[in-house]
Amino acid sequence: MAKEELECSFCGRKKPETNLLIAGLDAHICDKCIEQAHGIVMEELKQGEAKELSSDLMLSKPKVIKEFLDQYVIGQEATKKVMSVAVYNHYKRLLQPASDDDVEIQKSNIIMVGETGTGKTLIAKTIAKMLNVPLAIVDATVLTEAGYVGEDVEGILTRLLQAADYNVEKAQRGIVFIDEIDKIARKSDNPSITRDVSGEGVQQALLKLLEGTTVNVPPKGGRKHPDQKFVEVDTENILFIAGGAFDGIERNISKRLNMQAVGFSASKSDDNIERTNLLKYIIPKDLKDFGLIPEIIGRLPALTYMNPLDESTLRSILTEPKNAIVKQYQKLFEMDDIEFEMTDDALDYIVEKAVEYKLGARGLRSLCEAILTDAMFEMPESGKSKLRVSRAYAEDKLNKSTLKKLKAVS
Ligand code: ADP
Repeated sequence: MAKEELECSFCGRKKPETNLLIAGLDAHICDKCIEQAHGIVMEELKQGEAKELSSDLMLSKPKVIKEFLDQYVIGQEATKKVMSVAVYNHYKRLLQPASDDDVEIQKSNIIMVGETGTGKTLIAKTIAKMLNVPLAIVDATVLTEAGYVGEDVEGILTRLLQAADYNVEKAQRGIVFIDEIDKIARKSDNPSITRDVSGEGVQQALLKLLEGTTVNVPPKGGRKHPDQKFVEVDTENILFIAGGAFDGIERNISKRLNMQAVGFSASKSDDNIERTNLLKYIIPKDLKDFGLIPEIIGRLPALTYMNPLDESTLRSILTEPKNAIVKQYQKLFEMDDIEFEMTDDALDYIVEKAVEYKLGARGLRSLCEAILTDAMFEMPESGKSKLRVSRAYAEDKLNKSTLKKLKAVS
């Protein structure tokens, strides 16, 4: 065959009509066909990924989601249930065939109300781990309206993109956990003369993300890199989970329940009300009275609460979760061939101290560190093969530690 007669075996273009013609065994392919074929391959891959994701998600019925949460989060039954259903519905919505009928399932973003250290972040993290989706944890306190000192709301999506290794598709199915949402409550009920740039303004800005919109996201974060190209992120399928302590919201709840927060109430109707845990009775109106705008509340339809951690819950947190603190130390010592054990007495003592110092669940780890640092420092070279921590041992170590000073502070 004369050279000028060569042609693409796929589209029939003659060599001069192509930029490049690559020869195979018995055939040729031009640059245009290569590009097209590449597009088809990428499309197939994407569909394959989506199918994989959907079959994974379909398997996770609410009870399965809850069982997974149970392995990591102690107690908090109400929240785990609400969360399981909301997550299940959210992903059901993602798998809904387009334009099936007129019933459009709306997003089931979630809001958790409860004291700090009760497991809100842990729940969000566990859900993300289970679904194998990227998770961004952001603190609402740093957010301000665009143009003011602080972080723009779009920064939230920058974090999510980073968590997804800049894979936009993945980020668009991710989870955003917004902590301390109560800190952007409206400062007062009066629309004030001065602008509330870190309160209501941020709520308005957040609203757009929660609703589902396409946002131009600076991939490296806002203001430090003004020249970067924006990436478009659609928030339609991102699950938002908000958390906050809402300090003092019990007062609103008790007012609504027509009870007195302190002291004796003569009302008979509250006989069955558990006064020590008023959060249980929270309704969206309480969030509104606290200063969240109704539109935001409407976009966070799954409202749930966290129980304060009592002694028995703290005790379980030490030993029961899949990656419980005590299990982690066991593993650390095991790496040095040391058998590690803590007596029940010692565990009780740690819980007592966590309660006494008002450290909550976060303090359990600091207390363990304080008790075990000496052993972890000395034992690897000592040739000893066993460490048994008794109450007396724990008391002794803690008394010598700086943590004891906390007592004076709290
Ligand atoms: P929050 O977000 O509510 O302030 P976190 O989820 O950050 O609280 O909890 C802090 C730590 O305390 C967690 O990393 C976890 O080790 C422990 N923790 C808190 N609550 C629980 C719980 N219910 N079950 C297991 N661990 C918990």
